[in-house]
Formats: sequence, structure tokens, C-alpha cells
Amino acid sequence: MPDAQQPLHVETRVVTLGRPSSEPDQPLNVPVTLTSTFIAGGDLEYGRYGNPTWTAFEDVLGDLEGGRCIAFASGMAAIAAVLDLLDAGSKVVAPRHSYTGTIGQLQDSERRGRITVEYVDIADTEAVVGAAEGAALVWIETPTNPALEVADVAAIAAGAHAAGALVAVDNTFATPLLQRPLESGADLVVHSATKYISGHSDVLMGAVVTATAEHAEAITSIRTLRGAIPAPLETFLALRGLRTLPVRLERAQSTAQELVRRLSGLEGLQEVRYPGFGAIVSIVLPTAEAADALASSVRLWRHATSLGGVESTLERRRRWPAEASTIPEGLVRLSVGLEHVDDLERDLRSALGA
Ligand SMILES: *Cc1c(COP(=O)(O)O)cnc(C)c1O
Repeated sequence: MPDAQQPLHVETRVVTLGRPSSEPDQPLNVPVTLTSTFIAGGDLEYGRYGNPTWTAFEDVLGDLEGGRCIAFASGMAAIAAVLDLLDAGSKVVAPRHSYTGTIGQLQDSERRGRITVEYVDIADTEAVVGAAEGAALVWIETPTNPALEVADVAAIAAGAHAAGALVAVDNTFATPLLQRPLESGADLVVHSATKYISGHSDVLMGAVVTATAEHAEAITSIRTLRGAIPAPLETFLALRGLRTLPVRLERAQSTAQELVRRLSGLEGLQEVRYPGFGAIVSIVLPTAEAADALASSVRLWRHATSLGGVESTLERRRRWPAEASTIPEGLVRLSVGLEHVDDLERDLRSALGA
């Protein structure tokens, strides 16, 4: 056994945690437990309350984020569970460039009189902390999707807590390998596990990770009552994907950084946005038409929404009517995958006619 004094590296923990015990004939992987119910008298009882495949996934993601993980059916279900913690009439502070689905949920809740929302520039720490006065929750997404603004989580968490507000961070883009919001003082982390955690564009799943046992209990209770539970097979696939997150992200990030170097200053591109880490790059073309032409001309890059898979994908975000009108019409979000950087660059250049 490794020296108990020596903490294991994340690459080791992501592979070794969440497995059955090392005894003869135990399977190496936690099986997909396809059952709706369990023999009475134990901890599980029923498939909406718990499942051993969930537990394996939750043990690993919870360890990586440094908290307690509760798996959900999708990222949107995880976001809804956090908003469900709020009392009626609560004020929420949120980035004006949050993921469109997050904005959609906030607007829907506000329309129905459940909450009020103040939208902020999440990169403007002073403005965010100012808005936190009287708020019950400060929602952070960093980097934002697809504007790629970066928030100062530690400073916002300190200011928000001083104002008595909870802090939740959507950590989908950075993953716990590049950013651990709970260590910076956040109370809750949310993931669309559909993206980097699963990593192969074949699963929809989400998760909430909490700093305290009380929040874990409250979020688990919401999952049990509302029923937005993940399927065991999806959870198995998400855990299988999570095992390789460090190598996938390292390669995708280095390819993204190299692409940014090669694309900067390219004729036909108004802007190349990149926060310096991660594998999402947003490029801005002069017009929607130019961006649409790019999307329909690429051959290796696939024109599809979503991100974080081994396959490189791109899309013009403003093709969605719900996308914020402050996102440029010609902005194309690139999700850099694991193909060779030379092939990705050549395909983009040829589609741009550059
Ligand atoms: C995709 C996404 C979500 C929503 O997750 P689903 O798994 O699609 O429900 C939430 N936040 C961010 C940042 C996302 O990219």
C-alpha cells in the first residue's frame, strides 16, 4: 500500500477510487446495477433513493472537487436542484453571459414569481459583490459559455458570504482539474457531466458537489423528491469517461493553446478569445453569414452543439434565439478535441478560405 502520509495525485485517485474491494473474484469495475428496487432493510431500499453505480461515480467526482457529490440526470437538473434550495422571493445574482439553459431557468423562475435575478458582468468582482447585498445566492460560471469571461471565485465568495449569500459555481468548462471552487470558498459546485466529465458525447448527466453535509442532505432530498435521477448505464459511462479526464484534458488543452497561437492574427478573424486554460476557444468572424459558412464547410470539425468530447466540434452560438444578444453574431465556439492539431488547423483554414 502507498504511504498513508503521502497524499495520492489526482491522476491516481481518478483511476483507483470508486472500485470494489481487492478480493478474489470481485469485478474490477463497479457493475451497472440495473434494478428498480433492493431487498428491504438496508441503506438503498429503492432505485430513486440510491444505486451502487451512482455511489462509485459520486465518490470519484466528490473526491476531485473536495466535497460530497450528488449525481443528477443532466446538468440542467443539477442547476434546478440548487435553485430549489432557495426560499420563495429570494434574490439571485448571476452572470449575464451564463449558459443559455441557466438563463432560461432563472427567467422562468422569475416569471413565475419564485425569485428575482440581477445579472452582472461576472469578471467585474466589485460589481458582483455589490449586487450580492440582500441576495440569497450568487451564481458563478467561469469561464462563461461562450464568452469565456473569468471570475475571481475567492474574492466573490468572500464578499458574497459577508453579505449572507450562498455561492454556487458552474465548473463545467474548467473541470476540477483546473479549478476547485470549494477550495476558493464556494458552497456548491455544479457540473454538466455531459461535457468533459463523460467526455465522449454519448451521455447526458449532471452533478452537484457540496462543501457541507447539510447541503448534501438537502440536495439529495431534492433529488429523491423531484426524481431527476441519472440512469445506471449513463452513470457507468460517465465514470468510465471520468477515469481518463486528466489525459484527455491535458491533450485537448495543449492543442487548444497551439491552435490559438496559430489562429491569432489570421485574416477573416476579428478576435480569438481564450482564457489561457481549458480547451474551449471562441473565434469571432465579421458576420453571421461568414460564421455559418465556416460551420457548413469544415470536414473534421463537426457542426454540433455541446462540447468537451474527444471529437472537435464547433457552432455559431447566436443560431440559438435564447443566446444573449451581447454575444457577437459571428462568434463560433470551438470545442477542441483529441485530433492532431495540424489536421484541425488545416481544416479550419481551408473552411475559412485562409
Ligand atoms: C451544457 C451545459 C449545462 C447544461 O447541462 P446539460 O447536461 O446539457 O443539462 C450547464 N452549464 C454549462 C456551462 C454547460 O455547458
